[in-house]
Formats: sequence, structure tokens, C-alpha cells
Amino acid sequence: MTQQGYVATPPFSQSQPGIGGYHSGFGPAPSHLLYGHYGETSPAFSPPPQGTHKQIAPAWPPAPHGLPVSTQNQFDASSLPNGSSSPPVHQPRPSYTAASSTSYMHPPQPSYQNSATATATQQLTNQMGAMHIGPGAFQNSHLPPNVGQSALPPTSPQQIRGPSMPPIPQGPQMNLSSPPIGSGMGGLPSTPTVGLQPRFPDPGLPNSGFPPSPGQVGPHGFPQQTGAFGGQMSGLQPNFPGSVPGGLAQMSGPQQKKLDPDSVPSVTQVIEDDKMKRAGQIFITNLRGQVPPLVTTDCVIQDQGNTSPRFIRCTTYCFPCTADLAKQCQVPLAAIIKPLAKVAQNENPLYVVDHGESGPIRCNRCKAYMCPFMQFIDGGRRYQCGFCSCVNEVPSFYFQHLDHIGRRVDVLERPELSLGSYEFIANLDYCKNNTPPKPPAFIFMIDVSYNNIKSGLVKLVCNELKLLLNKLPREDNAEKSVIKVGFVTYNKILHFYNVKSNLAQPQMMVVPDVTEMFVPLLDGFLVDFHESQTVIINLLDNIPDMFADTDEGETVFAPVVQAGMEALKAAECSGKLFIFQSSIPTAEAPGKLKNRDDRKLVNTEKEKILFQPLKGIYESLAKECVANSCCVDLFLFPNQYADVATLGSIPLYTGGSIYKYSNFQINSDGDHFLSDLRKDVTKSIGFDATMRVRTNTGFRATDFFGAIYMNNTTDVEMAAIDCDKTVTVEFKHDDKLSEDTGALFQCALLYTTVGGQRRLRIHNLSLNCSSQLADLYKSCETDALVNFFAKSAYKAILTQPIKTVREILVNQTAHMLACYKKCCASPSAVTQLILPDTMKVLPVYMNCLLKSSVLVGNTEIATDERAYQKQLVLSMDVAESQAFFYPRIIPLHNMDVNSDLLPTSVRCSEERLTNGGIYLLENGRNMFIWLGLASPPEIIQGIFNVPSFAHINSEVTTLPVIDNPYSRKLRSVIDTVSHQRPYSMKLTLVKQKDKAEVSFRQFLVEDKGLYGGASYMDFLCHVYKEIRQLLT
Ligand SMILES: [Zn+2]
Repeated sequence: MTQQGYVATPPFSQSQPGIGGYHSGFGPAPSHLLYGHYGETSPAFSPPPQGTHKQIAPAWPPAPHGLPVSTQNQFDASSLPNGSSSPPVHQPRPSYTAASSTSYMHPPQPSYQNSATATATQQLTNQMGAMHIGPGAFQNSHLPPNVGQSALPPTSPQQIRGPSMPPIPQGPQMNLSSPPIGSGMGGLPSTPTVGLQPRFPDPGLPNSGFPPSPGQVGPHGFPQQTGAFGGQMSGLQPNFPGSVPGGLAQMSGPQQKKLDPDSVPSVTQVIEDDKMKRAGQIFITNLRGQVPPLVTTDCVIQDQGNTSPRFIRCTTYCFPCTADLAKQCQVPLAAIIKPLAKVAQNENPLYVVDHGESGPIRCNRCKAYMCPFMQFIDGGRRYQCGFCSCVNEVPSFYFQHLDHIGRRVDVLERPELSLGSYEFIANLDYCKNNTPPKPPAFIFMIDVSYNNIKSGLVKLVCNELKLLLNKLPREDNAEKSVIKVGFVTYNKILHFYNVKSNLAQPQMMVVPDVTEMFVPLLDGFLVDFHESQTVIINLLDNIPDMFADTDEGETVFAPVVQAGMEALKAAECSGKLFIFQSSIPTAEAPGKLKNRDDRKLVNTEKEKILFQPLKGIYESLAKECVANSCCVDLFLFPNQYADVATLGSIPLYTGGSIYKYSNFQINSDGDHFLSDLRKDVTKSIGFDATMRVRTNTGFRATDFFGAIYMNNTTDVEMAAIDCDKTVTVEFKHDDKLSEDTGALFQCALLYTTVGGQRRLRIHNLSLNCSSQLADLYKSCETDALVNFFAKSAYKAILTQPIKTVREILVNQTAHMLACYKKCCASPSAVTQLILPDTMKVLPVYMNCLLKSSVLVGNTEIATDERAYQKQLVLSMDVAESQAFFYPRIIPLHNMDVNSDLLPTSVRCSEERLTNGGIYLLENGRNMFIWLGLASPPEIIQGIFNVPSFAHINSEVTTLPVIDNPYSRKLRSVIDTVSHQRPYSMKLTLVKQKDKAEVSFRQFLVEDKGLYGGASYMDFLCHVYKEIRQLLT
């Protein structure tokens, strides 16, 4: 297998196969602009020599067409519907590419462009002539949204009706113009009329059992976008005069009419469309390359040979066959893997397979684990590895006869042969020092310096732990948790506690010298909570009083981590430290930090320094923690700069989490923190974990993002990994992939369970491969793409100027969309912006990413907050990143109090909020209730128990519990939303026109950014311009 990748070729500096003239289109292309890689120094791609490409024979017989697809939940082996045919997971779909690409390339093309009325065309031409969007304007547009935006009057149905288009009630024409931005903003050549027309791929797939892909909305999907939106959305009053400051009033001139925002692709509409099509259905993973429902759509997953999308989602489920094609389209090939994800209650938990003392059966060459991709041959005596094609002997204990189509007759009785995900019991070979692991430990390390005592935090933590220690995670079906617990308090010095069960009182042991950290006691430090309950409760009762009079303001940090790690090491177990830190560690000790928050660096080449952790002890400490399976969770309560970039590096590299509660107030933040703490302590978790992704010949995993540590280029190490932690893996070609074989990969996670068992969790996924880029675009998942782009960009800012990273993101967005238009859309007017259906909301998401706190480059945003958000995003799954970048806004004023369903969301724009409305906004980290000035009094009464808007106290962070339908419904909405998110959200009330509205408005991501960044409309115009330059 060649190890050479193609990554390093500067993509915009030379002509691309199939797409000419890209160089000029991207303006000044920095010489280190690297496709998706932001500056790695990999060798340039050289194509594999002709003739050396190894053809892999299909490892399984092709399955017949029309495989029955069950809609019943049926996991017992006897009723698996594919019992009589070959394993469906392997089924190539021979007619898929040809059939769909034919029709895909030449769908009926209604001539939107030419159908516009002459008047409208003239209007747009005038406006486009005035369009000036230079890079400066794009970064720093200073116009309010909508100024000068214009729209065509609705075109009459017959004019826009193509050969097969039904009548369309509203003008679907997305004629895209730009706000005239003031002179001096950079020149754009006068642009003719623009038609923005999302394209829809061929909806009909030859395989009848294949569910429609997300975004495939039927043969005439277009009207659903424009026609249904707005008209059917309750509570949506897009042009409410009062809601857009100066919006309509400032329209300049009679000819300029407002471009209908409903005519540009909408995230909420895409989400709703997918729910309409796929919610409540069973998604069966029996076919290769299936695109799962969107992450926002509730459905039941049934594993029939490929892993569930709860564990792995991909940026595309169809990889291009060659590196050249991948380079041409620049669509990242990545998997977002959440190995320990929770399985829904109505889905089967993973089976545990035991192959006995010799351990799981693995391929001799590539070490892949037994899985449905292994092809048994030679009467069942040997099997060919689906990844490396090596032929292996079947161990005698594992031998089984084959049936008439070459399948083992026991295939349905063995999870590892029929399912995408399962676990193996690991034998001693997989244990440190060949000895079984000891039960893990949790060590609670509480900063008892002045700030934490004064704020009441110490007392809060101690009281909560008394309850929480009863709820430590345990093995399924186990009576109690076997996790050991230990306690440390600290300020400038550390205090260890002996809480052995036979003691009458806990004993404190002080370690005043923090330069040479050691653990003063072994016996009695890590104990079973139930055995030592009395002593521990006694300790937790006493800690707040013991330090009540402290005036110690300084703290240490690195010695605390060191102490916890040494304690775990001495006890020879893995575990997690819960550190409750008040401030930047300034006391004289290893790892002492000072304020290096230099905002003058923002928007300079040196801005990256703000995000780089200080090296030295923090780096070596993180490494040592990983080596000793010591995960660190940091709860931070800073009143000022705390160098999150450095402190956070320890959780980041050890698979831990960071929580930040700036200016912590017990009344307003206490519940929020406690809720986070409860979720964090009780969530399911694995320890001492190593993850490896194996692929079949032709591609390989090249880059990894997450709360992880990597000692080499293949093994992802995590001191611990919980059920929410996600690792994003990028793939690159190192050879050709074949359409017959597809792209197969296997993610294996070796870890220790909370019960102290060593296990291997295996996830297998098979993707399609195609030499037609149209197939790739059709199988993309925008939410996963955004997850990848966010992580790769946030990682890149450590080494590159943020401006460069932003440019790369914009360029790549334009490039991906331009390539689609060039290679996949039928020749149409050059002026049309044609978006692949699966990516039609990619521009809005990319714009959200560009103006996120991390990338926006604004000195008003606290450095710590940016570092914090960067770290959060790095281990997010797809659902989290989707909501984080495009918050959900749920209208509450017209909710059906008798329905269990959540009201349909509205778009993230101020235009969508009405004076008379009440809305809940959430992004997984923050939650707001926004109250319009004219909110209905009866709802205000119902929710807040006050007579009017003016009486609402916006300081509160919880809602009163009142027995009426409004209160019940709203609290149920909040519960539902909170339940969907892994972290707790602090509730903030925002009254329209209040000062606090500013912090709320930064979440209205379709509008111009509060701290800079373009509106969605402006960004779309900019991307459109970039695409046109690429294509001319
Ligand atoms: Zn192999």
C-alpha cells in the first residue's frame, strides 16, 4: 500500500483537471494554501504509476436486486429479512451509477433565467451593476441587512414552468443581487442578472428499497423550498415592519425591491423537509453508501451490517474513485466518529462477542477485526480480508460450513458477521502489562482559595457530591459502581484526605511542597464510596467550614493534575480528575501562568499565539496523563483572564471536558453548573482508550480532530472517552478505489469499561465509490461537512493566521460548489448559481463558521471565550455542531399546548422575530427566551405569573412552575430541548429593546454579525461571485 497522499498540492495554484482557470478566481492564493489542510508539509501528490493499481476482486457475490427491506424491528437472527440472500451490506448497486448519473446530468432544465420578465431583468441588471463586494466588504460589511436588496416580482407560473415542473405558487427564481456597498469597497465588474436556482438530483433510485437521501425532495422539489416556506410556517412574519430596523424603510429608490429571503435555501426548511420524509421511520443499515436521515430527524436505526449513524456520520457516503477526482471537487472525505454514543432506548444495545482466550479473530496482515466485510472461501476454511485482501486461515474453533451462495450458515447468529457494531471481550494481550485492569477511580480536586469559598462554590460542590457519589456510572446490570473515589483540596498547597472506611474521622495530609509532587498516602485515599460513605460525608460536610476563613487568593494547577495522575499511577488504575479551579494559577509552582491576553494580536499574523497553549510542563504533563490513563475534566470559575488555552490543553489531550462559568454567581449560575456536573459525573465513559481506523486499499485515515492525543500517525489515544466525545477523521486516497468494492472502514476502540473490563468496540461502515462526481455530491451530508470544516479550521488557527484560514474556508466552499456546477449540472446560463441539493445550505453554515467567535477576529470577544469555544467544538458530534453554528429558534407564542411536538423552528434572523412573539433560542450551550414588546399578555401571565411584559424580571434563570397549559408546555419544551443536548444550558430572558438583547442578537446568524461577518445574503453573493470567477 502506498503511503503517499495528494494533499500538499496547492489547489489553486495550478490548473485543475476538469476545471480550468481556478487560479485567477481565488485571488491572491497564498503559497501555503493547502486543500483542507492548512499548511501541512506532506509531499506533493504523485499519481500511482500506471499499471500498479491492484484490482481487488469483489469480496462477495453480487446480491440480487430488489432486496426486501424490512420495516419491522427485528433483530433476532431467525427473522432477519435478508436471510435468504447474500449479506446485503455487500450489495453493489450496479445500476445505480449509470442510471442515476444519466438522468442526473440532464434533468429537465426549466429556463428560469430567460423566463424573468424584461422589467425584472432590467431592474436586476441595474442593481447588479452597482454591486461591489470586495474582500474588505465581505469581512467587514457595515450595512444593515437588507439594505438595497432587491427581488423580482413573482414570475407568473407559466413562465417558470419547465417541461416537467408543476405550477409554482410563488416565484422560485432566486435572483441574487447584492446590496450596493459603498464606494471604495473594491471593484467587482458589473454583473448581469443572476438566477440562483438550486438543483435537485434525480430522485428515483433504481433500488426500490433504498430510502430517499436527505434533501431529495422528489422530482419537483424546488417548489417545496419556496412554496411551502413562509406560507406554512406559523408565526413567521418575514416582513414585519417593526422587526427589521430600517429594513424596508431604507430601501433606496423605487426600482429596488427587496429580495425575498424565503427564496434562498433555508436550514430550517431543509430540516423540516427531512423530518417530513424520514421522521419516525426505521433506517436500516443494510446497504452500502446509504445516506442516513439528518441528525435533526428522529428515527429508529436498525443495524444490518453497517454501523449506525449515531456512531459514525460521513461528509459523503460516496467517495470518488481517484485522488484526482477528490482534488477536483475538494469535498473533504471525513468520518465523524462517536464510538461510545448512546443508543436510543428502542434500539438494540451492542452485542458482546467472546472469541475465547486467544482473543478476537483478526486479519494476520492488517489486523482488522472479524466483521461482515470478511469473505469466507475454500469451503469455510479460509477467509479473505475485506480491507487488505489477505487470505487467512479460519481457526478450527471458528470453522463453519458455507451455504450455496458462499455464506457461512451461522452468519445471522454471529454479530461480528452480520452487524455493523458490536464489542469483543479483549484478552490479556490487550491489557497493560498483560494483567486485567483494576476498576477506575474518580478524584475530586477542589480549589478552596478565597474566590471559590466566597462565591459559595465549595459548599455547593461538596453538598452535590454527597448525592452524586451514589450515581457513579456502573456496568449494565451491575448493582453498584465499582469506581473508586478520592478527594483533594488545594490552594497554594495540596491537602489529601484519608477516608478509609474504618476511620472515625477523615484525616487530612498536607503536601506543602508542590515542586516535587508526591502522593502522601496510598491506603485510604482511593476508596469504595459505599464502604466509606460515613467518612466521606463527614469530610464533605467539613470542607467548607475548614476553609471558611481563608484569605488565600493564589492557586496552583499543574501540581494538582500531577498529584491526581500520580495517585492513579500508584493505584495502578485509570481514572478521571474533576478539578474545580477558580482562577489562573499564579502561585509560585510549576506551571505558574501570567496574563498573556494581548488583544493587540487579534487580526495580526500573531493572533495564533493567543490560542497556543504554553508548552513546557503543560505539554509533558498532558503526555504523562495520557500514558497513565488519567483523564482531566476542568470546571473553571474565572473572574478574569485565566489562560484557557493553556489550562484547557490538559483536558483536551486527555479526552476530558472543560466547563467555564465566568463571574460565577451561585444564584444565577449554580443550577447550570450543578446540572453540568451531574451529567459529567454520571455519563457513561470508557478509560485507557486507543482508537484505530482501518480502511480498505485505496484510501486511509490521515488526520484526526478531537479531545485526543496522538503519539504516532495512526493510534488515537484518549485517557478516557465518554459517550459524547467525538473524533473526526479525514481520509485521503493513496490509490484508486473501485466502484465494485466501495470504500470500507473499520473503527476499533480498545478501552476499559466502568466495571474494569477490557473491551474492543468495533464499528464497520461501507461507502460507495464512484467515478462520477455527481454521485459524490448526491451523497453528501452538509451537517457533517460543517463539523469537519469547523474542526479543521479551529485546529489550523494554531499554526496559521486566522485570516488565511477564513480565506481557505471561503475558497473551498466556492470551489466545491463551482465544481458541482461545472461537472454535474447541465450546461446552463453561466449566471445561475446552482447548488447541489445536499449542499444547498452549506453557504449559510460556512458563513456561521466564519463569523463564529473563534474565527471572527474581534477584540471585543474575550480571548478565553474564544479559546473555550474552540475547545468545545473540537470534540463535538454532528448534532452539536449543527446547533452550535445554526441555533434553533422555536416560536412559543403560537404553540399548541395540547401537542407533544416541538413547534417548527424559524430561521435565525431578526426578521423572523415579531413584536408579538415569544421565542426560545438554543445552540446546545446557551438558551434564551426572547420576548417581543407586544407579547400576548395571557401567555406572559401563564408563563411568568405576572400581568404584563413590563413586570417580567429578566434577571431570573429559571421559570416558575405554574399549573397552567402555557407554563406546562414551555417547561416541557425546555425539558425536551435540554434532554437532546449533552451539556446543560443556562436560561437567559431577553426583552425586546433591552440592553441584554445584544448578547442574544449574536446568535441570529443569518444577519450581519454583531462582531463582524457578513449576513447570509451578502455571503451568498460573495460565494456566488467567487464561483463565477472560478468558472470563467
Ligand atoms: Zn487484512
